[in-house]
Amino acid sequence: MQRKVGILGAGQLGRMLALAGYPLDLHFRFIDPTPSAPAGQLSEQIVASFEDDQALVRFAAGLDVVSFEFENVPVAAVRKLAKLLPVHPNAEALETAQDRVNEKSLCLKLGIATPAFAAVESEQQLKSALGVIGTPSILKTRRLGYDGKGQAILKDPQDAASAWQSVGGAPSVLESFVHFDRELSLIAARSESGEIAFYPLVENHHRHGILRKSIAPAPRVSPALQKNAEETSRRILEELKYVGVLAIEFFEKDGKLLFNEMAPRVHNTGHWTIEGAETSQFENHLRAVTGMPIGSTKLRGFSCMLNFIGALPDTTQLLKIPGCHVHLYGKEPRRGRKIGHCTLLADSHQELMERVALAEKLVQDDG
Ligand code: AMP
Repeated sequence: MQRKVGILGAGQLGRMLALAGYPLDLHFRFIDPTPSAPAGQLSEQIVASFEDDQALVRFAAGLDVVSFEFENVPVAAVRKLAKLLPVHPNAEALETAQDRVNEKSLCLKLGIATPAFAAVESEQQLKSALGVIGTPSILKTRRLGYDGKGQAILKDPQDAASAWQSVGGAPSVLESFVHFDRELSLIAARSESGEIAFYPLVENHHRHGILRKSIAPAPRVSPALQKNAEETSRRILEELKYVGVLAIEFFEKDGKLLFNEMAPRVHNTGHWTIEGAETSQFENHLRAVTGMPIGSTKLRGFSCMLNFIGALPDTTQLLKIPGCHVHLYGKEPRRGRKIGHCTLLADSHQELMERVALAEKLVQDDG
């Protein structure tokens, strides 16, 4: 029986979901205000705002299930859709992950380590919070921040006024600045029946707050560290009765993990799974939300993903590198914009690093 999945948001994540769903005879309808969005170029797309109630009703007609590929969709839209048909992940998970204070408060409740934090609603509150958290620290808007946007680093308490201004006076969270050893992430998928599968921890490299590179599996990960990450994820998945793929970003400091943030969706640090794992994060998300069994997360070798940011590399040269796979999103190049990625595969970490060195000469981003 043919099934139709509705997805809020039609960016590259939606496009890769559709590409993973077609072999399972899943069909798609996207809703997104941008005409000809990456997913809309290959599937049905309703061009409308997520706040347009009539468009939401048209969107829902004939669908079997709804999911989202963008975590800043209004929770109200998800709640309205949930009255008409199943929505996975649920509105509570979305609401938690949309707000940095909510997600860190959930960590406190579940005994998960995070950097010290305090919610701030005014410059005065920021000054008092600085008395507790100290400097260096980092001020982030509670909501709508991504790729390092809406953030300010405070080196000294005197930076309070300028930091408050740079987040636009929006409700924010002040966090202690972590001199971390590296950034890691964990992708997990949970089915409706409660089955959970984890991918191995991935090592991530950011510049100016934007992900540039993910290495999978992350080198130098002890079984205890992997277990710690999986336990953290399991607690969150079970607490939220979560169905679908969840990504958690961590800082590693002195062999311990600190929760940084989570994304209630397929994630950029999981793109390598398309070629690098037996079942990709995209397929596993779809399997989870449509009630199918979760697929094996076993690795197919050593993988590294490089994002194409702001400019396209010479893909003909890239494709000459053994084990290199290129994904283009159908987006116009613009400064700081993710317009594609490549994943390199190899049989050993060393061979992978040799291939990555060749690819990095070609993948020059815009800053
Ligand atoms: P986020 O949007 O929270 O993922 O932050 C973007 C990037 O800023 C992260 O990937 C880190 O490189 C850096 N960052 C965020 N929070 C902290 C922190 N508390 N301490 C140090 N660096 C941070």
